[in-house]
Amino acid sequence: MPRPPLPAALTFSWPRRLSALLLLGSFYLLPWLSINGEPAVLFDLAGRHAYLLGIELAADELPALLALAVSGLALLYLLTNLGGRLWCGLLCPQSILGSLYQQLMQLGRHGGNLLWALLAIWTGISFVGYFTPVRQLLPPDAAGWNHWTVFWAVFYAAATWANIRFLRTRLCTELCPFARLQPWITDQHTPHVRYQLRRGEPRGARAPGLPGIHARGRTLLNPTTAQDYVFRAANPAIAGSWPRFAPDRLGDCLDCAQCQQQCPLKLDIRNGVDGNCLDCGLCISVCDRQLAAHGLPGGLIRRQSQADAEEQPARIMRPRTVVALVIALGSALSSWLLLH
Ligand code: SF4
Ligand code: SF4
Repeated sequence: MPRPPLPAALTFSWPRRLSALLLLGSFYLLPWLSINGEPAVLFDLAGRHAYLLGIELAADELPALLALAVSGLALLYLLTNLGGRLWCGLLCPQSILGSLYQQLMQLGRHGGNLLWALLAIWTGISFVGYFTPVRQLLPPDAAGWNHWTVFWAVFYAAATWANIRFLRTRLCTELCPFARLQPWITDQHTPHVRYQLRRGEPRGARAPGLPGIHARGRTLLNPTTAQDYVFRAANPAIAGSWPRFAPDRLGDCLDCAQCQQQCPLKLDIRNGVDGNCLDCGLCISVCDRQLAAHGLPGGLIRRQSQADAEEQPARIMRPRTVVALVIALGSALSSWLLLH
C-alpha cells in the first residue's frame, strides 16, 4: 500500500523561514553578545585565543577544536544520509541569502538592490566582528579599523553582494564540493523531493470541481505507464503531441508548471529526481497551494526515499549511518576530554 502523503504542515515553507530567521539572526547578533563580560564569539588571531559561548580557548587547545570540527562534519554526513540535502535546502547561507535576495527584489528593482547592497556591507562588518570586537568597529570608538580589517570587511561585503547577485545557484550546481559528494553520502533510504507520478499522470488542465483521483475511484497507475507519460511529456519531439484525455482519466497534476517556475534551479521535478535538486521543498509548497486551490489533497510532490517509492521497508540504521554516528559522538567526547 502506498503511504499517505505528508501533511501540509511538514512541507518546507515554515522550516525554511524559521531556519533563515535563526541562522541570519545568530550571524548578525552573535558578535554583539557578551557572556560573563567576554564576547560570546570572538576569534582573536593576534592574541592567539578565542571565546566560544562562554568558553575561552587558547591556541594550544586547537586539537579540541579540530575534534569538534570532525564531529560537526560527521553530523552533517548523518543529517544528509538520514534526511537528504537538508543542509542545502534549509541551512546553507547560499540558499538562505538567495531567498532573501529574491524577497528583496519583490520590493522593486532599485529598492531591492539598495537594500541588498546595505545588507552586504553589514554582512562584511559583522564578519570582521568575529575577529575584532564589533564595538570597536563602530563610532564613537571605531579603533578596530586598520588596513586588514578594512580589507576583509570590503572583501566579504563585495563577495556577498556579487555571489548572490551574479552566481547564486550556479555556485550550487557548478562549484560547491558538497553537492558533488552527494552520491557518496546518500543511499536508497535517503529521502529526496519526489513527484508522485503514479498519482499525478496523465497531467492536464481541468475544469474546476473535478475531484482528485482517490475521490473519483481512479487507482494509481502502474509504474511503467506513469513513467511512459512522464517521458512523453518531457520529450514531445520524440513522442509526438500530448493526447487529450477525458476528465475522468486525468491524474492529479494540473500541469500548471508552478513547481518548475518557483524552483531556484528551474528543474521540472516531474521528470524525476535530479542530482542538482537542493531538496529545498519550494516545489512542494507551491504544488500544495495549487492543489488546494482546486480542492485536491496535497502531497503530489513530497519527500520520499527510493525504497519507499518502490514500497520496500524503511531502514533508518544502515552501516554508514552507524559509522557516522560513532565518529560524531567519539569526536565530540574527545573534544570535551581535551578541554577538561
Ligand atoms: S526541484 Fe527545485 S524547488 Fe523542488 S526541491 Fe529541488 S531545487 Fe527545490
Ligand atoms: S505544481 Fe503540482 S500541479 Fe502544478 S505542474 Fe507542478 S506537480 Fe503539477
